[in-house]
Amino acid sequence: MKSLIASALLLCLLLSGCVGRSAEYSNRIYSMDTVVDLTAFGPEAKTAVAAAEAEIYRLEALWSVGYADSDISHINRDGIASVSEETAVLVSDALELYGETGGLFNIAVYPIVDAWGFYSGEHRVPDPGELETLLAVTDPAGITVKNGMVTLPEANMAIDLGGIAKGYASAAAADAMRAAGIRSGILSLGGNVYAIGTKPDGTPWRVGVQDPSDTASLVGIISMEDEAAVTSGAYQRFFEENGVIYHHIIDPRTGRPSDSGLASVTVVMADAMRADAYSTALFIMGKEAALSFWRETGGFELVLVEASGAVTITDGLRDRFSPNTAFEVAKR
Ligand code: AMP
Ligand code: MG
Repeated sequence: MKSLIASALLLCLLLSGCVGRSAEYSNRIYSMDTVVDLTAFGPEAKTAVAAAEAEIYRLEALWSVGYADSDISHINRDGIASVSEETAVLVSDALELYGETGGLFNIAVYPIVDAWGFYSGEHRVPDPGELETLLAVTDPAGITVKNGMVTLPEANMAIDLGGIAKGYASAAAADAMRAAGIRSGILSLGGNVYAIGTKPDGTPWRVGVQDPSDTASLVGIISMEDEAAVTSGAYQRFFEENGVIYHHIIDPRTGRPSDSGLASVTVVMADAMRADAYSTALFIMGKEAALSFWRETGGFELVLVEASGAVTITDGLRDRFSPNTAFEVAKR
């Protein structure tokens, strides 16, 4: 079985003109199961990048399902665990987002993501009977967060913050950089990009949205300032079996990789954690439902790329999207 993991999900375009005007420091680490690129400008750049790295490693240790001692591993192993305040808040937020997204953002999909082999890397296609059994333990309604304790209502339940943690971590790492005195920087954790301020020359950051059918090229570039751009895409993590591609974003209604006609969803929003949850849920929703959600909810903008290659942006990006291809603009 062939396993393919797409590498960088959004490309940060650091234009050569901005380097040299102000001290720049960049570093690449591997954390939260993805490549993390951190860049800061200013005299404190090196200290700031080190602080951001420490923050990301700290959150990885709290939430990784791959760490036996993480808060999430304790919850999943024992069904009840005393957790850090930050974990309690993020689990509560994730449960709220379940309601907000009509049940599509669901941290209780863990047993299903596991059955497809996305944690172990031993990918397989579960049979319908197995999926049906697992779907019975993916209702997060009974999960409680109280007095620093997270409790799962059933023995076979387990949770995974993978659809939200990188967004949260990008903002936390950006805050660590700001606390170190940084006013200009850019962070990328897999498909989660966070822009601090502007480029050192005062112009907005320019963040590329990858073409899902050719990840070496971009469908366009978004201008950004003090906000996040988070992409969920079928191309980011998948395997192929008997000519069929199976990706990592699970439709909680079917237990199967979602098949909504979208190839990627990019959410642009100040709240990086929410942008991460939305990108996952809106990918499953499909184009029309995602645009209705945008109209009803507000507070964010979208770049939608369909499997056909068609690109749609929402109205608020009209003046800050530099396209490389034809696109439509969705109105409020
Ligand atoms: P993202 O890359 O942010 O779209 O999140 C995808 C990751 O979140 C997957 O690798 C799983 O770990 C997890 N996941 C998959 N399906 C869902 C879902 N429906 N709701 C919440 N998390 C999910
Ligand atoms: Mg997400």
